[in-house]
Amino acid sequence: MHNHIEHLLPEAIKNLMPYQSARRIGATGHLYLNANELEQPLPGCMLEHPLNRYPDFKPQQLANAYLDYCMVDADCLAVRGADEGIELLVRTFCAPSVDSILICTPTYGMYEICATAAGVGVHKVPLTSEFQLDLAEIEKLLPKIKLIFICAPNNPTGNLINASSIRQLLEKTKDSHIVAVDEAYIEYSEQDSTMPLLAEFPNLAIIRTLSKAFGLAAVRCGFVVSNQNIIDALRKIIAPYPVPDPCADIAITALQAKNVEQMRISVEQQNEIKNRFCAQLIKSDLVEHIFPSATNFVLVRFKPNVNPFDLLIAHGIVTRNQSHEPALQNCVRITIGSEQSMAEIITALNKKKRDVS
Ligand code: PMP
Repeated sequence: MHNHIEHLLPEAIKNLMPYQSARRIGATGHLYLNANELEQPLPGCMLEHPLNRYPDFKPQQLANAYLDYCMVDADCLAVRGADEGIELLVRTFCAPSVDSILICTPTYGMYEICATAAGVGVHKVPLTSEFQLDLAEIEKLLPKIKLIFICAPNNPTGNLINASSIRQLLEKTKDSHIVAVDEAYIEYSEQDSTMPLLAEFPNLAIIRTLSKAFGLAAVRCGFVVSNQNIIDALRKIIAPYPVPDPCADIAITALQAKNVEQMRISVEQQNEIKNRFCAQLIKSDLVEHIFPSATNFVLVRFKPNVNPFDLLIAHGIVTRNQSHEPALQNCVRITIGSEQSMAEIITALNKKKRDVS
């Protein structure tokens, strides 16, 4: 396969010989004395199977299970949560003190943190008033950029990014930039995934996670889905044994057809709870606007002087304050929980209203 992205790799990465871990080298024998593991597991420290050996460096069964779930003909790298995928993309494609990423704010905070920590520049283009990509402004900055993160649906705003604008961006950057689309919340609006674009755009990498709709945040399992050239580049610098065996086992189980079906039912339920919650919430005099959500959270703008975060925390309800974002004054991000949890929020707001009147 022609390597369409090799020219986008920093020299240091292009020339890097990956660490030759015992699992990467392979080799078969009857005694494995090549990885400084304890040859016999201690009896107290076992789950269903022994844990004394390092896991696979490329857990293929897990990658295949995820690709089956996505129904896409592509390559896939299992990572320690989507956060590790973000970090790998930055460190693989951006040279410190040379390259920069572009993000469209307000958006998920880890893109900036990963880049800054790696000595990589960060350029920000605010989303439009509709929280959509400002393609004209993005285009102006392209000469300074190597890697673009698009969070779709976006966190913390909750909205979808227009598919046509993502396609336009991919077309403009096909030979010159990597575009990473973070689909951490895509299960809540599955039909809007950019997966079908992988076949067309060699510069597209999609970041996914089991932390949200699959309910496995504690397992720390995510994926980068892309073509083989991009995945091979990420594999050059990924830690030698990226996914712990117990996590891979749980993830493979979660991706079995019957469990995917359960996940889809749960997503539907959460979407219904979200709709009912929003219908109640909008009746509150304290609320100014509820932004449309394609995720498992809603961004809510309250009237000036309400201080929604403080108000709710006084009732023991912890939400995410967004007031530090210039575009999100008086806003909180509220995760959709159970029907009862959402009812508690409505009760707390109604109580405040009574106190005021
Ligand atoms: N991307 C987005 C948009 C997120 O909101 C989050 C989690 N808050 C992540 C990535 C990280 O997910 P993970 O738990 O898989 O590291």
